[in-house]
Amino acid sequence: MTHVTQIDSSAGSVTARVPAKVNLQLSVGPLRDDGYHDLVTVFHAVSLFDEVTVRKADRTSVAVTGEGGPAVPLGPVNLAVRAAVALARATGRRGRGASGVRIEIRKRIPIAAGLAGGSADAAAALVACNELWRTGLSVAELGHIGAQIGSDVPFALSGGTAVGLGRGERLTTALVSGSYHWVLAFGAAGLATPDVYAACDRLRAARVARDGEPSEVPAPQLSTDLMAALRSGDPAAVGPLLSNDLQPAALSLQPLLRRALSAGREHGALGAIVSGSGPTCAFLAAEPDAARDLAVAITGAGVCRAVVQVAGPAQGACVVESGALA
Ligand code: ATP
Repeated sequence: MTHVTQIDSSAGSVTARVPAKVNLQLSVGPLRDDGYHDLVTVFHAVSLFDEVTVRKADRTSVAVTGEGGPAVPLGPVNLAVRAAVALARATGRRGRGASGVRIEIRKRIPIAAGLAGGSADAAAALVACNELWRTGLSVAELGHIGAQIGSDVPFALSGGTAVGLGRGERLTTALVSGSYHWVLAFGAAGLATPDVYAACDRLRAARVARDGEPSEVPAPQLSTDLMAALRSGDPAAVGPLLSNDLQPAALSLQPLLRRALSAGREHGALGAIVSGSGPTCAFLAAEPDAARDLAVAITGAGVCRAVVQVAGPAQGACVVESGALA
């Protein structure tokens, strides 16, 4: 009798999928004593996903393939590695010498793009290791660990659409109807988030000196108009209400982004905005066919490196394949 042995390539491994985010509102308040700014933001997860696979190993290591892979740091500074180490420490696993894990990241979210790709990988690593090690933490508990690693990690875990306060890590789910169809235009070069915040501070200081604006930066406020538009489910109402206080700073560092935003508006985008700290530009369309036409037109305009068509709100980090051995 012949036995056929089926080799399950997922045996002992867990794969999690995690979305990118765009900010529908990003209001930047005064600089805090800890070096961060107080934010009011509306996060929106979109269907551009990284995948993270973890399996037990003698020592922790990471490999990265896909979009921007060679530029992603390997070793302990990688945000997915930091997340795995933090989870092992928080659950007492590290002390027992059982925390080695091989991490493989397949990137589709470009790095330093204002899409929170690094935070997304940290969130995916938390979810995957939580399953691999059967540590059984809730999303809220993982979010607490993730917030120490990056302000956007709790949102990458929860997904959907949410209001973020503080550094963006204090989340409340937003009531949103329907789905939203987007075109994302990727920039030729990345933008480092700290550089964009520093440029924002410089532009504000220059306005105080030049125009006599009050030096006190007002506390940021949630746009009730935007929240009402999101509840209505009407992209034509949402488009004009998109806002980003970091956009002038991102445009000052990469002036060519103006051309990308103009091209999107000229070709019928309902809203056109720099995502987070940029340089990705996000364009809102009425429905999927309109988004496809917009993607074609923006590609033809030659104002960006690449475009993708995505939809939101997308689900947060979740396990998509598990061969975890008990
Ligand atoms: P945000 O929108 O959260 O400000 P971003 O999308 O602009 O961030 P990320 O892609 O999160 O930028 O990368 C920020 C930096 O984090 C990169 O320059 C990179 O050096 C570092 N980094 C560490 N780990 C990762 C990872 N797994 N993926 C991407 N970047 C990582």
